[in-house]
Formats: sequence, structure tokens, C-alpha cells
Amino acid sequence: MNALDYLRTFFSKDGPVRYESNLEGQDVRDGVLYLGDRAGPGRSQSDLAHEMSHFVEIDDDRMLVRGWGLVFPQVEICGQLCDEPKTLKMTERELRVMAYQANLLTAAGAQVSTSKLVKALVFVPDFHLVPMEDGRPGHLAKDVPYQDREPSRLRWLKNRVEELRVVHTLERFRHEWNRKVRLLAT
Ligand SMILES: [Zn+2]
Repeated sequence: MNALDYLRTFFSKDGPVRYESNLEGQDVRDGVLYLGDRAGPGRSQSDLAHEMSHFVEIDDDRMLVRGWGLVFPQVEICGQLCDEPKTLKMTERELRVMAYQANLLTAAGAQVSTSKLVKALVFVPDFHLVPMEDGRPGHLAKDVPYQDREPSRLRWLKNRVEELRVVHTLERFRHEWNRKVRLLAT
């Protein structure tokens, strides 16, 4: 079984959560939740696993909200007009999602590199709040040269995903997935 086929075993054709090829992210139509395998121009099992992990991670009352009710894209669009994030909440959610995603892809038999996964997090608006690799906040790490800051933050993110993988296991993923699908079916 290839990795995409493995991921598709989680879905049923007429269930409340369905797989849709070529869909970007997530969509809700007629009370049915669709998860897709596209992010930007490409399609991949990794992107589908990411969306599936968002579904498992999101609060129950946001399961059927378009874009999971995450404000992330708006923050990007309004740029400097919006307040800069003061907490690492957005990134922390993505890290929990990526921990599930990595475990899911591993179970699917796909190659996973958590250092590659976390690279996308440089675009999250709270990236400047990510600590240096040694855990020091950026403003207390004046000795770290500018060009070393991003790689150092990325290493912190990678280490954090690896820690979270121990808690956000495949078993927990399955349990939450099934619970949520049952909840949507009633
Ligand atoms: Zn995400």
C-alpha cells in the first residue's frame, strides 16, 4: 500500500469527513468536511496528513468551520496594520499538528524529515517569538549573529516537534479521529 492509500483508509466515501483530491486545505459543504492534498501548486500525501492532523488537533466546536476558524491568513494579509502576535500560540498549534503529521506519515511508510516540515513555520506571524535553539528568547541572545538566528529557531522547532511526537502518538490520533468522526455523524 502506498502512503496516500494508507491515509485514505481513514476516510469513508459517504461519511461526515471525506477526502478530496486536489483540494487545497479544508472545505465544508452541506455539513460535510472535506480534506485535501494540495498546498500551493503541488499535491502531496504530506499535505493531506497535515490537514488530517489539523482536524484531530482542532477544538470540537471548530471542526466544521472553514479554515478551522484560524485567523492566520488574515494576519498575514493585513501585515503591519495588525498587531504583532504577543504569544507563540499559532506556532504551538502547528507544532502539535506536525507531531501528529510526522507520526501519521511514518505509519504510512513515507519518509519524514521534521527539519523540512518546520521550515514552513518561518511564515507564521509569531516566528520572531520562537526561542533560540538553547531556549533563550531572541532579545536575550544578542550574541547570536543575525544570520544564525533563523537556523537556530528552526532547530528549536524541530526539537520541539520530536518531543511532541512522544505525546501526539498515532494511537492518540486514531482515537481522536474516530471520536470526532462519530461526533459529526450524530
Ligand atoms: Zn497547519
